[in-house]
Amino acid sequence: MLKIGFGYDIHRLEAGRRLVLGGAEIPSPAGLLGHSDGDALTHAVIDALLGALGEGDIGTHFPDTDPRYAGARSLGLLAAVVGLVRAKGAAIVNVDAVVVAEEPRLAPHVPAVKAALAPVLGLPEAALGVKAKTNEGLGPVGEKLAVACYAVALLTVPD
Ligand code: MG
Repeated sequence: MLKIGFGYDIHRLEAGRRLVLGGAEIPSPAGLLGHSDGDALTHAVIDALLGALGEGDIGTHFPDTDPRYAGARSLGLLAAVVGLVRAKGAAIVNVDAVVVAEEPRLAPHVPAVKAALAPVLGLPEAALGVKAKTNEGLGPVGEKLAVACYAVALLTVPD
Protein backbone atom coordinates (compact mmCIF):
# COMPACT_ATOMS: atom_id res chain seq x y z
CA MET A 1 0.00 0.00 0.00
CA LEU A 2 0.95 3.64 -0.38
CA LYS A 3 1.82 5.66 2.72
CA ILE A 4 2.72 9.32 3.04
CA GLY A 5 4.93 10.88 5.70
CA PHE A 6 5.47 14.50 6.66
CA GLY A 7 8.51 16.04 8.30
CA TYR A 8 9.43 19.48 9.61
CA ASP A 9 12.56 20.92 11.16
CA ILE A 10 13.97 24.29 12.10
CA HIS A 11 17.49 25.18 13.22
CA ARG A 12 18.99 28.43 14.39
CA LEU A 13 21.51 30.21 12.18
CA GLU A 14 24.84 31.03 13.79
CA ALA A 15 27.64 33.10 12.28
CA GLY A 16 30.78 31.18 11.38
CA ARG A 17 29.23 27.71 11.12
CA ARG A 18 29.10 25.65 7.92
CA LEU A 19 25.72 25.69 6.20
CA VAL A 20 24.78 22.13 5.19
CA LEU A 21 21.41 21.45 3.58
CA GLY A 22 20.50 18.12 2.05
CA GLY A 23 24.15 17.13 2.48
CA ALA A 24 25.39 19.96 0.25
CA GLU A 25 27.65 22.62 1.73
CA ILE A 26 26.35 26.05 0.73
CA PRO A 27 28.53 29.17 0.85
CA SER A 28 27.14 31.34 3.65
CA PRO A 29 28.47 33.57 6.46
CA ALA A 30 26.19 31.65 8.87
CA GLY A 31 25.32 27.98 9.30
CA LEU A 32 22.85 25.92 11.27
CA LEU A 33 23.33 25.18 14.94
CA GLY A 34 22.73 21.59 15.97
CA HIS A 35 24.03 18.55 17.81
CA SER A 36 24.72 17.03 14.38
CA ASP A 37 25.74 19.09 11.35
CA GLY A 38 22.42 20.94 11.73
CA ASP A 39 21.15 19.82 8.33
CA ALA A 40 17.49 20.73 8.82
CA LEU A 41 16.49 19.63 5.32
CA THR A 42 17.88 16.13 5.79
CA HIS A 43 16.24 15.97 9.24
CA ALA A 44 12.85 16.88 7.75
CA VAL A 45 13.27 14.21 5.05
CA ILE A 46 14.23 11.62 7.72
CA ASP A 47 11.07 12.45 9.70
CA ALA A 48 8.93 12.18 6.55
CA LEU A 49 10.35 8.69 5.84
CA LEU A 50 9.95 7.55 9.46
CA GLY A 51 6.40 8.93 9.51
CA ALA A 52 5.42 6.94 6.43
CA LEU A 53 6.98 3.82 7.98
CA GLY A 54 5.23 4.34 11.34
CA GLU A 55 8.67 4.30 12.99
CA GLY A 56 8.61 7.32 15.26
CA ASP A 57 10.90 10.25 14.58
CA ILE A 58 14.53 11.25 14.27
CA GLY A 59 14.82 11.85 18.02
CA THR A 60 13.85 8.28 18.88
CA HIS A 61 16.37 6.81 16.42
CA PHE A 62 19.23 9.29 16.89
CA PRO A 63 18.84 11.01 20.30
CA ASP A 64 20.64 14.33 20.56
CA THR A 65 21.74 13.28 24.05
CA ASP A 66 23.83 10.49 22.49
CA PRO A 67 27.47 11.57 22.03
CA ARG A 68 27.71 9.21 19.00
CA TYR A 69 25.69 11.76 17.03
CA ALA A 70 27.66 14.84 18.06
CA GLY A 71 28.75 16.51 14.83
CA ALA A 72 27.20 13.61 12.88
CA ARG A 73 26.85 13.97 9.15
CA SER A 74 23.09 13.92 8.69
CA LEU A 75 23.35 12.20 5.30
CA GLY A 76 24.77 9.22 7.18
CA LEU A 77 21.70 9.19 9.43
CA LEU A 78 19.50 9.39 6.33
CA ALA A 79 21.36 6.44 4.79
CA ALA A 80 20.57 4.41 7.93
CA VAL A 81 16.87 5.33 7.64
CA VAL A 82 16.82 4.42 3.94
CA GLY A 83 18.28 1.07 5.06
CA LEU A 84 15.36 0.71 7.48
CA VAL A 85 12.90 1.47 4.64
CA ARG A 86 14.43 -1.36 2.62
CA ALA A 87 14.61 -3.73 5.59
CA LYS A 88 10.85 -3.33 6.04
CA GLY A 89 10.24 -4.22 2.40
CA ALA A 90 9.18 -0.64 1.64
CA ALA A 91 10.33 1.60 -1.22
CA ILE A 92 10.42 5.36 -1.67
CA VAL A 93 8.27 6.63 -4.56
CA ASN A 94 9.15 10.31 -4.26
CA VAL A 95 10.18 13.01 -1.81
CA ASP A 96 9.23 16.67 -2.01
CA ALA A 97 10.69 19.38 0.20
CA VAL A 98 10.59 23.11 0.87
CA VAL A 99 13.47 25.04 2.41
CA VAL A 100 12.52 28.40 3.89
CA ALA A 101 15.49 30.74 4.30
CA GLU A 102 15.85 34.47 3.96
CA GLU A 103 19.60 34.29 3.48
CA PRO A 104 21.47 33.00 1.63
CA ARG A 105 19.22 32.79 -1.41
CA LEU A 106 19.13 29.04 -2.00
CA ALA A 107 17.60 28.79 -5.47
CA PRO A 108 21.01 28.72 -7.23
CA HIS A 109 22.09 25.84 -4.96
CA VAL A 110 19.05 23.60 -5.52
CA PRO A 111 20.84 21.49 -8.19
CA ALA A 112 23.74 20.82 -5.77
CA VAL A 113 21.30 19.90 -2.99
CA LYS A 114 19.42 17.49 -5.24
CA ALA A 115 22.68 15.96 -6.50
CA ALA A 116 23.75 15.28 -2.89
CA LEU A 117 20.42 14.02 -1.57
CA ALA A 118 18.92 11.95 -4.42
CA PRO A 119 21.61 9.20 -4.45
CA VAL A 120 21.29 8.63 -0.69
CA LEU A 121 17.53 8.26 -1.13
CA GLY A 122 18.15 5.92 -4.08
CA LEU A 123 15.94 8.17 -6.22
CA PRO A 124 16.38 9.71 -9.64
CA GLU A 125 16.52 13.50 -9.32
CA ALA A 126 13.12 13.71 -11.06
CA ALA A 127 11.59 12.02 -7.99
CA LEU A 128 13.07 14.56 -5.56
CA GLY A 129 11.59 18.04 -5.29
CA VAL A 130 13.52 20.78 -3.50
CA LYS A 131 12.03 24.26 -3.50
CA ALA A 132 13.66 27.35 -2.03
CA LYS A 133 11.42 30.00 -0.49
CA THR A 134 11.94 33.10 1.61
CA ASN A 135 9.65 33.98 4.49
CA GLU A 136 9.01 37.49 3.12
CA GLY A 137 10.88 38.98 6.08
CA LEU A 138 8.38 37.60 8.57
CA GLY A 139 9.12 35.89 11.89
CA PRO A 140 12.45 34.37 12.99
CA VAL A 141 13.10 32.82 9.57
CA GLY A 142 12.41 36.15 7.90
CA GLU A 143 14.72 37.86 10.39
CA LYS A 144 17.55 35.48 9.33
CA LEU A 145 17.66 33.82 12.75
CA ALA A 146 16.75 30.34 11.48
CA VAL A 147 16.12 28.09 8.49
CA ALA A 148 12.97 25.93 8.38
CA CYS A 149 12.37 22.87 6.20
CA TYR A 150 9.32 20.81 5.32
CA ALA A 151 9.24 17.46 3.49
CA VAL A 152 6.77 14.83 2.40
CA ALA A 153 7.64 11.30 1.32
CA LEU A 154 5.49 8.74 -0.47
CA LEU A 155 6.39 5.10 0.15
CA THR A 156 5.09 1.74 -0.96
CA VAL A 157 4.82 -0.36 2.21
CA PRO A 158 3.86 -4.04 2.45
CA ASP A 159 0.49 -4.72 4.14
MG1 MG B 1 17.09 18.91 13.35
